[in-house]
Amino acid sequence: MANHLFDRIRAGIADPARPFAETADGARHSQADLLERSARYAGAFAALGVKPGDRVALQVEKSLEAVFAYLGAVRAGAVFLPLNTAYTPAEIDYFLGDAEPAVFVCDPAHRAALEPVAAARGVGRVLTLDAAGRGTLAQAADAASPHGVDVPRGPDDLAALLYTSGTTGRSKGAMLSHDNLASNAQALVEEWRFTPDDVLIHALPIFHTHGLFVAINVTLLAGASMLFLPRFDPAAILALMGRASVLMGVPTFYTRLLKQPGLTATACAGMRLFVSGSAPLLAETHRQWTAATGHAILERYGMTETNMITSNPYEGERVPGTVGFPLPGVSVRVTDPDTGRELIAGAVGMIEVKGPNVFKGYWRMPEKTAAEFRDGWFVTGDLGVMDLAGRVQIVGRGKDLVITGGFNVYPKEVETELDALPGVVESAVIGLPHADFGEGVTAVIVPAEGARLEEAAVLAALEGRLAKFKLPKRVLFVNELPRNAMGKVQKNLLRDSFAGLYRA
Ligand code: AMP
Repeated sequence: MANHLFDRIRAGIADPARPFAETADGARHSQADLLERSARYAGAFAALGVKPGDRVALQVEKSLEAVFAYLGAVRAGAVFLPLNTAYTPAEIDYFLGDAEPAVFVCDPAHRAALEPVAAARGVGRVLTLDAAGRGTLAQAADAASPHGVDVPRGPDDLAALLYTSGTTGRSKGAMLSHDNLASNAQALVEEWRFTPDDVLIHALPIFHTHGLFVAINVTLLAGASMLFLPRFDPAAILALMGRASVLMGVPTFYTRLLKQPGLTATACAGMRLFVSGSAPLLAETHRQWTAATGHAILERYGMTETNMITSNPYEGERVPGTVGFPLPGVSVRVTDPDTGRELIAGAVGMIEVKGPNVFKGYWRMPEKTAAEFRDGWFVTGDLGVMDLAGRVQIVGRGKDLVITGGFNVYPKEVETELDALPGVVESAVIGLPHADFGEGVTAVIVPAEGARLEEAAVLAALEGRLAKFKLPKRVLFVNELPRNAMGKVQKNLLRDSFAGLYRA
């Protein structure tokens, strides 16, 4: 049997002498280096006692060596488990206890704090890897053979375990198979017209599905290359655009790049594609980007559990505020959240997904897994609407839905009205405990610099535009909205900060 995912990656390499990645220090790595280095990591893991199906957990800074370690884990038949660099030792304790990895790799600077945590959880081996790609894991790879044989893995064997960034409750480990990753990367290569000549600017973190699977697996399957940045830096990205063809980013990338004085159509002339995802891209940002660069951002939608679900078309209209059509092989339906009955086009409901992209379930949580599937469809928790042509628009998270006096208010609808007001940069609409209404619709607004916005004027501007029950009871102003590493607005933090607003 072959190694399903890595065989697909190998098949993408038409010429090993071609480039694979260039790092910020100017170091260049060929496709041959990728094959050799990942083989060494596979050998290192095997020598450390990692057996097929064992988890290999890493909490390390972004580096190309970490990418090779990911590929080495896949080739060793292991299950790759990347952890957000922001997690504290208490959080790491939970992940190590839950996933029981055979090996844990951390930054050398955190080894003293994390080694006892790993030991208490029975993790046999703790190694290190730093931002420069140095550490005991890299040394183990140096010492291993570059000619190892890949461990056979089938389409349904696990390749990765990614914990969801869930804002409430315990984090759940999404089990992703070789074919979940391979099929989705292949669909995106075709949908986004990737070729070996593409050069991707990689500035996303690599502990998340976007930077790790969308960006890296698509580059690999296409035999393309990347300019690999340690983190998001708008000036560095702008400087690289002349040498690149594609940028993948979260919406914050685009709002920050728009503030760069050098962002012009000329600066972007060599680029063919700008992709946005992981959080909603404001329609206004989409329009500003087109005005500044002449390019329409291609927005796509996905999640850890499902990989990518929909994409705006490569050819055809990329409609601001929508996430496009289901990818080839992926089915999407919109259902009544309570009954599960499929709704007609144009009705708002729960987005459900089926296809080779959908994960194998939550690690060691069969009940949670069962609860999130309905007749074989995965219930995303996102509320959306599909038009007759199949184009999807996201209206909000199910858990963000505000229920006020028995009426449902979809925050996105109110946010869209608020965002269109002069002097509003962006907004978040939340429900706060309210004695009369259960929840009070509350608007939190980020005003533009120098704009003088007042609560009464904002409320007056909305009147007549939205049904009365949807109108915010209060409007609050903040300098910025709290966001996580992937640019998602953390509404739970807003709800906590303003929880007492309607308490007399
Ligand atoms: P994660 O598992 O961290 O990737 O988060 C997945 C969630 O991000 C989805 O369920 C959506 O709520 C949100 N998301 C991803 N892409 C988009 C998008 N283009 N527009 C709106 N929300 C998105």
